[in-house]
Amino acid sequence: LKERIAALGRAGTAQRPLIGDLIRPSEIVVLVIPIDKAAPKGRLILPQQMTIRGILDADGIPVCVKEDRLEELIGRLGSGENGGAGNEPGLIITDSQVFEEVSKIVPDRIPLTSFSILMARYKGFLDAAVRGVRKIDDLKDGDIVLISEGCTHHRQCGDIGTEKLPAWIRKRTGKKLLFETSSGTGFPEDLSRYAMVIHCGGCMLNEREMRFRMKCAADQGIPFTNYGTAIAYMKGILDRSLQVVWRQE
Ligand code: SF4
Repeated sequence: LKERIAALGRAGTAQRPLIGDLIRPSEIVVLVIPIDKAAPKGRLILPQQMTIRGILDADGIPVCVKEDRLEELIGRLGSGENGGAGNEPGLIITDSQVFEEVSKIVPDRIPLTSFSILMARYKGFLDAAVRGVRKIDDLKDGDIVLISEGCTHHRQCGDIGTEKLPAWIRKRTGKKLLFETSSGTGFPEDLSRYAMVIHCGGCMLNEREMRFRMKCAADQGIPFTNYGTAIAYMKGILDRSLQVVWRQE
């Protein structure tokens, strides 16, 4: 029944823009997109496609770059002070996996956020994700963490949920934790056995379904967060990545 209710709204769209209210016309917006073994062959994943489209719709100028070319790009665009072209980006959006190295390259004066944080805001669960992420530091030996993804068959977000996140969380907490995964529409209704839920950006799910999942967790008192928020929190750059979206609220 839960899946049917959620499916009813699957064709719906969120009211909040993904990116359009965060940028100005003619502003250069840099998208940092790693092309590693997890990246699908020959195309970009949906959050990247949607962000590029949102920037174009808002008359901004999207510029895509891999993380190892970002420093060169920022230098070439430049602030105009040291021989640069004076076309410094108004915003940089990165894949969460390279958040840490990107944050070291991007000067503090340039706003920085991630595709996951934009997607959580778009889907209406950013505030809950920020509240829920602190649970990571309260996890205890034997706790089970549910990692949930919206893709049905192929995990378009690669091995973040199955390998990288569990490794980062184990390293940070030093606890003996168990991780379970769900994908597509297979989100468990009974969350009582889980200490927390970490969800992907949910680009394949509509806002209604994401809110339903979040409400399931809230009703059962289970902290709920998402990939990008969890990664930014663990890397100590959550505040910085939220500044650009919260200054707009
Ligand atoms: S639904 Fe989730 S796992 Fe699939 S591409 Fe979107 S953000 Fe990634």
